[in-house]
Amino acid sequence: MLSYWEQDAWTQYDFVVVGAGIIGLSTALSLKEQRPQSSVAVLERGFIPRGASTRNAGFACFGSLTEILSDMQTNGEEATVRLVRARYAGLDVLRKRLGDSACGYEQHGGFELLFESNVAALEQIERINNALRDIFPSAAFHERNDLIAEYGFGTNRVKAIVKSDFEGQIHSGRMMRSLAVLAQERGVMLLWGADVQAIDHEPTAVQLHLKHNDESLTIRAAQAVLCTNAFTSTFAPELGIKPARGQILMTSPIADLPFRGVFHFDEGFYYFRNVSSPHGERILLGGGRNLDFDAEETTALTLNAAIQQELERLLREMILPERSFTIEQRWSGIMGFHASKLPIVRRTHERLVVGFACNGMGVALGSTIGADTARCALGE
Ligand SMILES: Cc1cc2nc3c(=O)[nH]c(=O)nc-3n(C[C@H](O)[C@H](O)[C@H](O)COP(=O)(O)OP(=O)(O)OC[C@H]3O[C@@H](n4cnc5c(N)ncnc54)[C@H](O)[C@@H]3O)c2cc1C
Repeated sequence: MLSYWEQDAWTQYDFVVVGAGIIGLSTALSLKEQRPQSSVAVLERGFIPRGASTRNAGFACFGSLTEILSDMQTNGEEATVRLVRARYAGLDVLRKRLGDSACGYEQHGGFELLFESNVAALEQIERINNALRDIFPSAAFHERNDLIAEYGFGTNRVKAIVKSDFEGQIHSGRMMRSLAVLAQERGVMLLWGADVQAIDHEPTAVQLHLKHNDESLTIRAAQAVLCTNAFTSTFAPELGIKPARGQILMTSPIADLPFRGVFHFDEGFYYFRNVSSPHGERILLGGGRNLDFDAEETTALTLNAAIQQELERLLREMILPERSFTIEQRWSGIMGFHASKLPIVRRTHERLVVGFACNGMGVALGSTIGADTARCALGE
């Protein structure tokens, strides 16, 4: 049973955001910016954020050439251009909000490796650059095949490289920690280990029922916001958001690594980058979900041995041929996917809003979706 003091000071807020990922924390910050006097709490079931935001690859990316072509086929040119614009704007908000050092931002560019099977995409560069001309200060994509040899990639597979000068990379852990610190500084109450088990609607408030070990607690809010990404279907199954696991591995430091930046191939199903660590430059490689879509539609934070094996093979044969390294870390993370591949910011009840971004590309978009979600919660 709660004491009077606990009940009075800890259990009622104007806005409660569920989920302390990039979207949840950005939403909370935007709410505080718009309504400084309001009380805002973020409920996170992990002791630290345990969603995609702290387990991703840290690409601050807008979509590679073939991803954009594929998105245009699914959603049309206008919606795809709008999404790229929102990503570019979102990254700008994140960098201004935290500063580059606090999010470990580096800009070495983004590179897409093209193979025999999709090298024809090069013919579309001009059309896509034209479609994106109002977003970027200069052409979004250009062909840089000279880099194949310079970067030492296996030439039997890589036929062309398309570079985007504007893509960058972050340190996902540092960025999320800085975002949490900033939210706290701005007066947002962060409650960790707060697992929301059920949500009830009353005439004047929404009730969020929490569980932590054997304890339970009910929190009331005038408005609740779900930023629970892959786990949103627990509370809003009608939105059709599904989990999709991503596998990652990281190498030991590699002497004289010839490249820096974020790299994509196979329509973004694979991605790798350099990670600057105190011991030297490492490579992070992730992806391979397309090898086993069924098994990877899960929320289990475990490894898929077959996919990890394929990642390691690609690393040794195509990305770092003839270099010696070991695999020092492997992990997985859970993305949320929706068939439309477009963000969802929607009021699903008089007192409940959902902010969902990202289909595997939420770093750049997160701050913009957070601002949209806050506006929706404010009824604007
Ligand atoms: C392996 C991998 C690699 C990726 N690489 C990139 C990349 O390089 N670039 C990029 O842009 N994007 C990448 N992404 C996608 C990106 O990480 C996500 O789009 C983004 O982090 C989503 O943010 P979010 O705030 O919506 O969700 P999340 O970060 O998943 O946050 C949701 C939070 O809600 C909490 N939660 C859920 N249910 C409850 C509940 N009932 N009660 C309380 N708390 C709850 C979770 O614990 C979690 O912390 C990657 C994702 C993965 C998994």
